[in-house]
Amino acid sequence: MSAASPIEAELAVVGAGAAGLYAALCAAADGARVALISATTLAQTASYWAQGGLAAALAGDDSPQRHRADTERAGRGLVRGSAAEVLCAEAPARVRDLERLGVNFDVDRGGALSLGLEGGHSLRRVVHSGGSATGRRVVRQLSALAAQEPLIEVLEQARADTLLVADGRCVGLACEDGRAVRARAVVICAGGAAALWARTTNPPGSLGSGMLLAHHAGAQLADLEFLQFHPTAVIGVPGREGFLVTEAIRGEGAVLLDANGERFVEELAPRDEVSRAIDELLDRTGARSVSLDMRSVDPALFPNVVGALAEAGIDVTRELIPVAPAAHFMMGGITTDLHARSTVPGLYAVGESACTGLHGANRLASNSLSECFVFGARAARAAVAEPVGPSGAPATEVKLAVDVSAATRTALWQHAGLRRTRTGLEALLDDPYPLARLIAACALARGESRGAHVREDHPQTDARLDAMHTIVDPDGGVGFERWD
Ligand SMILES: Cc1cc2nc3c(=O)[nH]c(=O)nc-3n(C[C@H](O)[C@H](O)[C@H](O)COP(=O)(O)OP(=O)(O)OC[C@H]3O[C@@H](n4cnc5c(N)ncnc54)[C@H](O)[C@@H]3O)c2cc1C
Repeated sequence: MSAASPIEAELAVVGAGAAGLYAALCAAADGARVALISATTLAQTASYWAQGGLAAALAGDDSPQRHRADTERAGRGLVRGSAAEVLCAEAPARVRDLERLGVNFDVDRGGALSLGLEGGHSLRRVVHSGGSATGRRVVRQLSALAAQEPLIEVLEQARADTLLVADGRCVGLACEDGRAVRARAVVICAGGAAALWARTTNPPGSLGSGMLLAHHAGAQLADLEFLQFHPTAVIGVPGREGFLVTEAIRGEGAVLLDANGERFVEELAPRDEVSRAIDELLDRTGARSVSLDMRSVDPALFPNVVGALAEAGIDVTRELIPVAPAAHFMMGGITTDLHARSTVPGLYAVGESACTGLHGANRLASNSLSECFVFGARAARAAVAEPVGPSGAPATEVKLAVDVSAATRTALWQHAGLRRTRTGLEALLDDPYPLARLIAACALARGESRGAHVREDHPQTDARLDAMHTIVDPDGGVGFERWD
């Protein structure tokens, strides 16, 4: 820890993606002083890369109940009903709040919000901004507001590597560069872990460092075996490897074709189903990719996808796009309640670092940005009401080393990819990266196939594991807990 005095704040927020920025702004609006710590630039957050949008029951013929039913259907018997209820009830108000904060969502000719259709949704429910530039537009606006807010101190290019715990309560953190923050509560918004897999749609920083920080501080983790594979990531195009082609494009009529130009899957089924159909076809035929045909889609609706592919030499108005599944979204994470509290007092988590149980075994498209805002607001409200921690020297936690080798990333893709076996997962138990070992332990414990987790040696879903979440204790022990 630094010899310099620590920064004093009410909240320390780790991560400046959608979850961190919004939680920080909500806390500051309540008059709290916030230290916002971010390891990477804005453009390196998953939030900035988000293309689709935010799911919210805003259409006249929609309702939070219908949104919840779609979320639960996609989540394959594992969605925590209470978390889905909160998300679906509060997402519309968060969209309105973002508008109040200056985010311009796309509107139709009549001035009403224009709503997109994505896989697993039973009707149009996804708001976007600038077509497929939603994440970029939203986080740019929120970061501009955070930079102007006198109550928010931004620590840029600062990586939290230590959580400070005193008398069992989290009281602050320290960064690699020696800076430290003392606070009533720490809110981990450090994103997901999908960049641990060799083929990924995620920015390189999505290595699960927030989950490991919480684990080191004694917090419970959950559902680490559930990693969503996005069906349509570009493959074999230099400079665009892993580039995601948003599902919203399939919502506007793009289709998936095999080598004979035939459709082989219902394009708007939930993601686990579409990814599995592609994977099985590739396995059967030995091909590397299938084709996404968006020639019938208006390119003006998705300017940044069309532009990015044009730069790589693909004219999507005339040519097919080679795609295959890639690691995309971590459904598991730090166990949190409906107010984003972890199992360690004073320690909160929001966004992809957290696991409320909302996504179950397979996230419904565009529920994750909504989750960042719904639970970001709830975290801010609860965290500013935390008591001041004990004074005196906190016990410093073991420093976190985030050093992931190419071998770990290859091993996760091979052994914890779209299809898993006991032998492969056991090989991962010796991986040098601690989160890889915990992922393998969870995947081994779940002896069934469900949603994104497919065990070739346990191909059926086990009804006895409905609503049963895999939990990881601070000592690494794995068990199951029922969450309703
Ligand atoms: C290509 C792509 C498209 C997507 N499209 C959509 C979509 O349309 N709709 C949707 O709902 N979801 C989408 N998702 C998922 C969604 O974007 C993410 O789940 C969500 O943005 C996660 O937000 P976050 O704030 O939790 O994390 P992030 O946005 O990833 O931010 C994490 C932050 O934590 C910081 N950080 C990490 N570790 C540390 C540390 N140790 N110390 C300090 N800082 C740290 C990082 O620097 C970063 O600032 C998409 C994801 C990708 C990759």
